Amino acid sequence: MTETLVIHYLELSLKGKNRPWFIERLVRSIRVLVADQDVSHVRHVQGRIEARLGANANWAEIRSRLAGLPGIANFAKATQIDLTRGAEATSGIDAMWEAMRPMLDGRTPASFRVKVRRVNKQFPIESPAVERALGERVIAATGWRVDLSNPALTLWVEALGEHALVYADREPGAGGLPIGTGGKVLCLLSGGIDSPVAAWRMMRRGCTALFVHFHAYPILSIASQEKARELVQTLTRRQLKSKLFLVPFGALQQQVVLSVPPPLRVIIYRRFMVRIAEEIARRANALALVTGDVVGQVASQTLENIVAVNQVATMPILRPLISCDKEEITAEAREIGTYGTSILEDQDCCTLFTPELPSTRTTLRLVEEAEQALDVPALVAMALEGVTLESHGVAW
Ligand code: ATP
Ligand code: MG
Repeated sequence: MTETLVIHYLELSLKGKNRPWFIERLVRSIRVLVADQDVSHVRHVQGRIEARLGANANWAEIRSRLAGLPGIANFAKATQIDLTRGAEATSGIDAMWEAMRPMLDGRTPASFRVKVRRVNKQFPIESPAVERALGERVIAATGWRVDLSNPALTLWVEALGEHALVYADREPGAGGLPIGTGGKVLCLLSGGIDSPVAAWRMMRRGCTALFVHFHAYPILSIASQEKARELVQTLTRRQLKSKLFLVPFGALQQQVVLSVPPPLRVIIYRRFMVRIAEEIARRANALALVTGDVVGQVASQTLENIVAVNQVATMPILRPLISCDKEEITAEAREIGTYGTSILEDQDCCTLFTPELPSTRTTLRLVEEAEQALDVPALVAMALEGVTLESHGVAW
């Protein structure tokens, strides 16, 4: 009997001809994810991914890493048994029971069921009969109540021909699609709660997230850059490597305040962010921008203002949180581990030289008039000159 990690994907089964490519991507990510752990032989076996867990594998750590990786429906630590030992089927059931027996210790579930999947039909007994045979042994050993429709505990057996996997705890995965299957996006990352969640939503769909943060250092403190960096590091646990572009924005903002009336400034800043981000995205081969905008959440995010900002875009701007409530986003930020960083005190560049209450109903005409006093291409070029790039890998 050996310890085996079994990983199931779900949506991947829908992907037709590309399926092997999607699976290969997932296998590769998992290999990198557990490279420093006592885990070997990560490979695709009959519709699932398996790996060998060595004696020194730290399961709590492996579990927490896997739970954040896109493309996984669920996973488990299983006991692997050899079904080739005896020719008769009963010896197979005996071996399954031998593996299952210790998994019952220390548990007192309100109900249970055994669920068997015969992945290929080499194992000669049909699944329901195996479920009954093992279920009877569980009842005899524990007295637990069977509940087929809503069991508190499910005991799993996957019979794969020469071997079978037996396990009790199935951990939910993050769902979605494997890293690197969805194209590159450039995520506008402020220090707030929303933008890291928006980035995660796209990462979960298989997109590679690049990040850009606009800061007003040295006019404002360095704190916003440190937050952006920390957020990127947290998110990198889920995509393994990331790029962060830091854009000095303060000098541009100083030019804007010379001619633009206060209520329009935030919108004009945002339009510059989009222009600059697009250029960075083009150079980095990203296909779209991503923001954490939510309709109506703050004054700068009325639909009118979103439209006024969007007007300068030539690339799609994806806004995965557009219809979400704050509570929903906050809960997700906690789940992905970015919340604690997001609520740290910082000085966002958008607050620089702006009034408490920006205009909520910007007309495009007013914004365009205000921009006429500015040399837009020169200001964009100036900001691009100062861009710095950081590469982040995982430091577990
Ligand atoms: P967040 O919580 O993401 O900061 P928010 O509700 O505070 O969002 P805004 O500050 O209006 O909203 O920003 C809207 C979006 O614009 C952000 O989600 C982010 O994608 C982008 N953005 C704002 N400020 C910056 C910045 N300094 N650098 C990069 N992107 C930014
Ligand atoms: Mg913000």
